[in-house]
Amino acid sequence: MNRLAIARALSETADLLALTGREPFRARAYERGARVLGQLGDADFARLVAERRLTTLAGIGQGLAAVIVDLAGAGRSETLEKVRHALPAGAGDLARIPGLGLRKIQALHDALGVETVEALRAACEAGRVRKVRGFGAKTERRILEAIRTLDAAPSGDAPAPRRVLVPHALDVAGRVLAHLRTLPGVTAAEVAGDLRRFTETVDRLVVVLAAGRPEAALEAALASPLLVSGGVRDGLTARATLVTGLAFDLRVTTPDHWAAALLAATGSEAHLAALVPLARARGVDLARAPGGDEAQLYRRLGLPYIPPELREGEGEVEAARAGTLPDDLVTLEDVRGLVHCHTVYSDGRHTIEQMARAAERLGMRYLTITDHSPTASYAHGVPMDRLRAQWDELARVQETVSVRLLRGTESDILADGALDYPDAILEQLDVIIASIHARHRMDAARMTERIVRAMRHPCFKIWGHALGRLILSRPPIAVDLERILDVIAESRAAIEINGDPHRLDLEPRLVRRARDRGIRFVISTDAHATGELGNLRYGVAMARRGWVRRGEVLNTLDVDGFLRAVSPRGRRAARRAGRSRQPAGR
Ligand SMILES: [Zn+2]
Ligand SMILES: [Zn+2]
Repeated sequence: MNRLAIARALSETADLLALTGREPFRARAYERGARVLGQLGDADFARLVAERRLTTLAGIGQGLAAVIVDLAGAGRSETLEKVRHALPAGAGDLARIPGLGLRKIQALHDALGVETVEALRAACEAGRVRKVRGFGAKTERRILEAIRTLDAAPSGDAPAPRRVLVPHALDVAGRVLAHLRTLPGVTAAEVAGDLRRFTETVDRLVVVLAAGRPEAALEAALASPLLVSGGVRDGLTARATLVTGLAFDLRVTTPDHWAAALLAATGSEAHLAALVPLARARGVDLARAPGGDEAQLYRRLGLPYIPPELREGEGEVEAARAGTLPDDLVTLEDVRGLVHCHTVYSDGRHTIEQMARAAERLGMRYLTITDHSPTASYAHGVPMDRLRAQWDELARVQETVSVRLLRGTESDILADGALDYPDAILEQLDVIIASIHARHRMDAARMTERIVRAMRHPCFKIWGHALGRLILSRPPIAVDLERILDVIAESRAAIEINGDPHRLDLEPRLVRRARDRGIRFVISTDAHATGELGNLRYGVAMARRGWVRRGEVLNTLDVDGFLRAVSPRGRRAARRAGRSRQPAGR
């Protein structure tokens, strides 16, 4: 097997491992291995294999190196075959159907021998799936609908481009830009397209490149080892596929047309369309306007600079003309405290102390520990005695760190809308996140009442990952959102903008509907490990896409202001507690 075929095999194995959910670290190791091989030159790869020196590459350990050597030599690896055999045949294919996890796939395989999407469709249509233990008529219908949605996606000769989450795309972009910037004559290279606007997923990486001799730069870029193939050229633009499988669009320009090229490549279509009449009225040729500065280009159109996150053609050009576009959108630097973080007390990977030290390294002033509540047994929710033990540990760790540690919970919103933990416990917390983790498929009317009741609870609470979507895998819950937002606006509640790249919930379009009602937000990480505290940047990006201003985000406040705003017990109590629990000298 050659280098790219091996990279594909590793990547496929990573997908299969991820499906089992049992070995996330191993899945990530295989994914990383695939990426490392993708970036390597063929000659270097052959040499490292021959000399048994693959482990000198960052990200490739002993086990993975052995697998690669097997694949390069014999073309097969026992380790990979074991992974494949441990799963029902066709599991990788069937897992494309949203909502179909490994357990269900196994059950269908055992009961009906289903191994392909086609076979599953036939079984659904014949009404056989509903008879399988654990399935019913409703599930059968849902599966059939999901298969039809899959079918509706373009397929055949031109397969639908692979969609990826933002962190993956940023990671790829970083490596592509680093390479392009080393090419002779290149003066600038930046990401444009959807990724620059921070849409939740992207199906391609768009890059703009400036060079004194653009044709030569394009040639050099297309010869890059990061590309699978030479790509299709059209003037000074090209399309190719990256070794990671992501589609790649490259646009080359001269340095003196940089701003126009970047603006056009960033989009969106709707935003650019809204600029056209302004450009026409002022005699500006948007495609060929000279200049290297986007802000200057907007000024020539009679507009203030419009940040990429707002360029969706959803009223931003009109607002900019009217002078009502927010000029103090929240930034990463504005955020002073981390909200919604898990530790080993529930399903997190790191201790309170490890999370606290990581928060300090990020320059944060406070950190709220919000482990799961008892009803969330799948996530090792914290029973009451353990919660008290956690408070003791928080106090102990507080002695050794300067970041202020706050007591919190991510309380389940129970089926009837009650919060987990009795009120007497909730009132002793600093922060309550209230989230739904079970029974996502209630009908809309009951779900709406469930959430309305939770939001009306007298304790202040932050509605966590509001609509429960999982990007690319689970749709949002069905509710009457307008009614819930009306209730939140008049209740002691705020809404979370969750920065977990799989969630990004509440989504930007809906955040704007909450803003219209004066509702406040918290930008959170939902970190289950120290590394995930970096999710903050994705949360901030979504807030900006929702036009959220600094003053609307509660965790831009200092610790006392934040405590006053979110205290479950109310303002005066928070002030009292803040004074008595604040260590001397701080
Ligand atoms: Zn949660
Ligand atoms: Zn959480």
